[in-house]
Amino acid sequence: MGYVKGLKCRECGREYPVDPIYVCEFCFGPLEVSYDYKKIKKILDRKTIEKRDGNLWRYKELLPIDGEPQVGLHSGFTPLVRADNLASALGVRELYVKDDTVAHPTLSFKDRVVAVALTKAKEFGFDTVACASTGNLAHSVSAHGAKAGFKRFVFIPASLEQSKIVASLVYEPNLVAVDGNYDEVNRLCSEIANKYPWAFVNINIRPFYAEGSKTQGFEIIEQLGWEAPDNVVVPCASGSLLTKVWKAFKEFKEMGLIDKLGTKVFAAQATGCSPISAAIKQGTDIIKPVKPNTVAKSLAIGNPADGYYASHIVKETGGHAEDVSDEEIIDGMKLLAKTEGIFAETAGGVTVATAKKLIEQGRIGRNERTVICITGNGLKTQEALNGHTAEMHHIKPNMAAFEEIFKKIGDR
Ligand SMILES: *Cc1c(COP(=O)(O)O)cnc(C)c1O
Ligand SMILES: [Zn+2]
Repeated sequence: MGYVKGLKCRECGREYPVDPIYVCEFCFGPLEVSYDYKKIKKILDRKTIEKRDGNLWRYKELLPIDGEPQVGLHSGFTPLVRADNLASALGVRELYVKDDTVAHPTLSFKDRVVAVALTKAKEFGFDTVACASTGNLAHSVSAHGAKAGFKRFVFIPASLEQSKIVASLVYEPNLVAVDGNYDEVNRLCSEIANKYPWAFVNINIRPFYAEGSKTQGFEIIEQLGWEAPDNVVVPCASGSLLTKVWKAFKEFKEMGLIDKLGTKVFAAQATGCSPISAAIKQGTDIIKPVKPNTVAKSLAIGNPADGYYASHIVKETGGHAEDVSDEEIIDGMKLLAKTEGIFAETAGGVTVATAKKLIEQGRIGRNERTVICITGNGLKTQEALNGHTAEMHHIKPNMAAFEEIFKKIGDR
């Protein structure tokens, strides 16, 4: 019943059957899932989608599975919040937050990609799933994998935030902390993936995993009343999410689900790990790997697998990129929290602060409609705010004590 034609090399176009493979044997280009769009167009319209349950499988024909969804039956379809308070703070008219801080079950957009990857792993018949993670993927593979009954091997940089480690361990995966940064963890995992017959969601299952990110793009358009925004600002680690949000927009155009598409795609990074934004700002598509040093650990990939493709999309759509300091990231988190009541993790601070910069530069128009992608929950990275929040008022349990501090607070 599936609509997948096969896998296709992004570089030379060579086609492959649907298997747990990810690079072209001839040119080493990455493989991507291709679909029978003609067939999908015949059965998929706005009404059909709107009648379905509020989760990411409402777009299942455009996802790379053959049978019925098996994992993540409550994932996706997060709110698109009209952010009028943040809009006035930033001086724009129409701004929306795509709010994956409330993603189910682990409060980041990784629940989307893992829902798709593990459904595919089941179809392939794997009993063990694995990943290399900057934090959020570890949570999602651990949690979705627990519910779906997989054995789980999860590899992380040992320097990850303590709260992120605990939020993986609670699901009892085999958690392996590696002395090294993400790029070193990932290299080790490529070797392990060659030897053990596991579904590594971001290695041999990557073409399928990455398709899950499209659902964020599909939802943005549906939730805007079947219109594409003028601008979308997407945080980049490997650059995969950015490429897939754009792929989603193009597929909806191709399916006739939207009439026109003129969205500019903007990339957001932390200055302490900005290989993609550096390339875009320098006007080149050569991504120079860096050694990450930033509070935004979930975006700390120094050698981004999809950086080249992300930079092309930014250029092709007339967007741009910016990167922001750790201080700007913290300010971005606080601004989003105090204007919209949304507590995002450091990656969200990157997106807000980058959007602010792009607006100040005039690259995002003040009268345009802009969506910013907020991809993870602030409760995961509370350490980043230590020493950066307002003080609380500490009092004895009596009225006089309260009156005393109340006088000081005034009518704040
Ligand atoms: C993984 C992740 C991203 C984006 O990752 P890509 O590798 O670029 O797809 C963005 N935000 C958060 C919070 C993440 O965990
Ligand atoms: Zn090829």
